[in-house]
Amino acid sequence: MSGNLIQILPDNVANQIAAGEVVQRPASMVKELMENAVDAGARAVSVVVRGGGKTLVQVIDDGCGMAAADAVVCFARHATSKIRRSGDLFALQTFGFRGEALASIASVAEVELRTRRAEDEVGTLVAIAGGTDADARTESVSCPQGTQITVRNLFFNTPARRKFLKADTTETKQVIAEFQRVALCHPDLAFTLVADDKTLFNLAPGGLRQRIAAVMGRKTGDKLLDIEVDTPIVKIGGYIGLPATARKSGSEQFFFVNGRYFRSAYLQKAVVGGYNKLLPFGYTPSYFIYIDVDPARIDVNIHPQKTEIKFEDEQALWQMLSSAVARSLGKHNVVPMLDFEN
Ligand code: ADP
Ligand code: MG
Repeated sequence: MSGNLIQILPDNVANQIAAGEVVQRPASMVKELMENAVDAGARAVSVVVRGGGKTLVQVIDDGCGMAAADAVVCFARHATSKIRRSGDLFALQTFGFRGEALASIASVAEVELRTRRAEDEVGTLVAIAGGTDADARTESVSCPQGTQITVRNLFFNTPARRKFLKADTTETKQVIAEFQRVALCHPDLAFTLVADDKTLFNLAPGGLRQRIAAVMGRKTGDKLLDIEVDTPIVKIGGYIGLPATARKSGSEQFFFVNGRYFRSAYLQKAVVGGYNKLLPFGYTPSYFIYIDVDPARIDVNIHPQKTEIKFEDEQALWQMLSSAVARSLGKHNVVPMLDFEN
């Protein structure tokens, strides 16, 4: 056997491997592309999907757009305008930072990007399918300010992965879930979602309560109590549902930290604990809880999907959250007034 068995993988192969983490299904592309739009300062974001997103995912924004050179480079691995040095990782102000989403998506689908900055007279079109940025076709086009990304035929070049995708209705449900999370984070922005020519959401900019009602429906939106924690270290705001609206299973549980959706079984117990004996065993209330902490006190660089987050002092957060829930229920006379601390 000859000695040199080790080779560096070509970019498109490395990107396909990375794509396994970033792009699991159409919904993960919807999330990444919507977050890019928000990062680009968009005021309005529209999402169009077909066939559960397997046939088509399109995200259109009116954000800052890209210059012609950036429109090509953005498909390269680790290409990002959002961080420059590792220290920036601890002061994240944007959703993106890995510079992996577009490279990953382009390696496993057919992508067309149209983008224009306000200061440019013409925009740029880049078409790239399953390759590296070197394979991209680029031309000048006229297009509105902002960015439009069209992704067709996800996993066309990795049939094994395509087979793992679920039925259209299941994939559409996942797309809706990701769309809702982003929309709930940014009540001040307009969002639309069209699936197979049906408009599922058409959300006007407004306040948080109005947005929750528009996203979850009046049944949830009408039965919310506000919660609040305001300390120098952490601020918590948002809404919790009346005990009567709690369910054994359901998907109306949302935690956000610094504008980022996350899950936490641990903190959910804090919320449930705040209801004390008001909930039947095994029931979970709906909640929409927004936590703001110094970015230096959280670590989002844990999981590629970034729904797991490490907090510096989770126990203190647990306490604050639980008593905030209890205070809110007490304040609104949902429970006979107990003696809550502060
Ligand atoms: P990240 O978001 O982690 O930086 P992405 O692969 O998602 O990585 O995007 C790469 C870069 O492409 C971004 O840093 C940004 O500069 C640019 N970009 C992506 N989407 C948009 C958009 N909708 N509008 C403007 N610029 C964008
Ligand atoms: Mg991104």
